[in-house]
Amino acid sequence: MKQRKRRLTDPYEPQTLTRAVTHIRLEAANAGKLAALDDLAPVYLALCQQYVTLFCTDERPNKLRAPLFPTSLSERWQRVAIQQAAGIAQSWRTNRAQAYQDYVDDLLAYHEQQAEGIPDAEAEEPAWKEWSIPVLRQACIQANANVAVLEPSQDSSFDYWLTISTLQFRKQLCVPVKLAAYHREALKDKTINTSVTLNKRSDGWWLTLSYDKVVPVQTEPSAPVVGVDVGIANFLTTSDGQHYGTFHGKLAARHKRDRQKRRRKAKLRRCLKKKGAKKLPSTSSKSGQRLSRHVRQEINRAVNQCFAEHEGAQIAYEHLSVATMKYKARAMNAYLYASNLAHIPKQIAWNAARRGVAAIRVKSAYSSQECSMCHNVDRANRPNQQTFCCRVCGYSTHADLNAALNIEHRWGDDELRACKDRKAVKALLMQRHQAWRTQNGYP
Ligand SMILES: [Zn+2]
Repeated sequence: MKQRKRRLTDPYEPQTLTRAVTHIRLEAANAGKLAALDDLAPVYLALCQQYVTLFCTDERPNKLRAPLFPTSLSERWQRVAIQQAAGIAQSWRTNRAQAYQDYVDDLLAYHEQQAEGIPDAEAEEPAWKEWSIPVLRQACIQANANVAVLEPSQDSSFDYWLTISTLQFRKQLCVPVKLAAYHREALKDKTINTSVTLNKRSDGWWLTLSYDKVVPVQTEPSAPVVGVDVGIANFLTTSDGQHYGTFHGKLAARHKRDRQKRRRKAKLRRCLKKKGAKKLPSTSSKSGQRLSRHVRQEINRAVNQCFAEHEGAQIAYEHLSVATMKYKARAMNAYLYASNLAHIPKQIAWNAARRGVAAIRVKSAYSSQECSMCHNVDRANRPNQQTFCCRVCGYSTHADLNAALNIEHRWGDDELRACKDRKAVKALLMQRHQAWRTQNGYP
């Protein structure tokens, strides 16, 4: 439904939000009308796949690459396929690189922990599993004006005509597009982007239109900064001591029920398999998917409330390493929580962009181990999950609040931002700690 252009380091730059209007059905006046599109889809998909594989392996993604593979598609269509494939490959490469960086950080953290001699019995050495190349399964065509043109209809029974080029030379397909009332409302007074997305599902063809919206940042650079820590016990903890949402309580109980249900199902499967049954109950968990959706709804609610209660403030939040969260969560047997935690920073970024709030993602290294008073970094500062108690200055508070304060202080901390890796962050923090010691007469 929504897409956001990447936010660079300037938090006061206006944000361009691309909003999608989905689920517009392509109505065919007669059954055979969309057949030309049905014919085109597999050819397009196969070609797009070839370029995805090329751009994920031998070549860097290049939207303007000259056509390489033989196909019956026109050159215009080939260019569309190349462009789409480059986009898919680029985001695959970016995500993979990010995951690999997270893995390297995790590995460093793991060895650090081993060297400090406080090994966690449940901790395992992180392992890297190479990603497989994306496989396009469903026909999804991101068409541009070279192959698909949307024009307002003169006839009042339809809203638009969509003219699509086909496999046949100079033969075009004209499809009437009828909008639902809520589509019409969403698109009112908007300039529709020239690129459109066509999706083929089991029940036919669907169209997605989109428009851009520029949101200026409303926050004053002098506005107070609020640090936001992300976690399992509290989805969000702000540096002024507020908590929003939690995995504990209702969600945890639901998760437990879901797990029990899946276990029972697995047991039943094993039992039936032994007896040689042909039909086994499915392993996919509908309730698990529902629970996941529910968790994300709770996250959205928590993030919304946090923004509503901090109007006028600027937001500093963590770059969360999803791999780290998963790795930490293994001990808690709560993989589900971890995979949803990554949704929180995304939701913060989206809310900030849409509300015109200045927000910055800061480095998360040692944010939970650093003392927000004296900068001492020590794993032993966390005697348990909830408590922070500094071994040097004795500062003691809720662990999430201490982390939120560190995140707040990292807003505009260029020295910290410039650190290349965890090691550099630690060295900088310990240097600051030494300065604090000198200033406060500690030996
Ligand atoms: Zn301290």
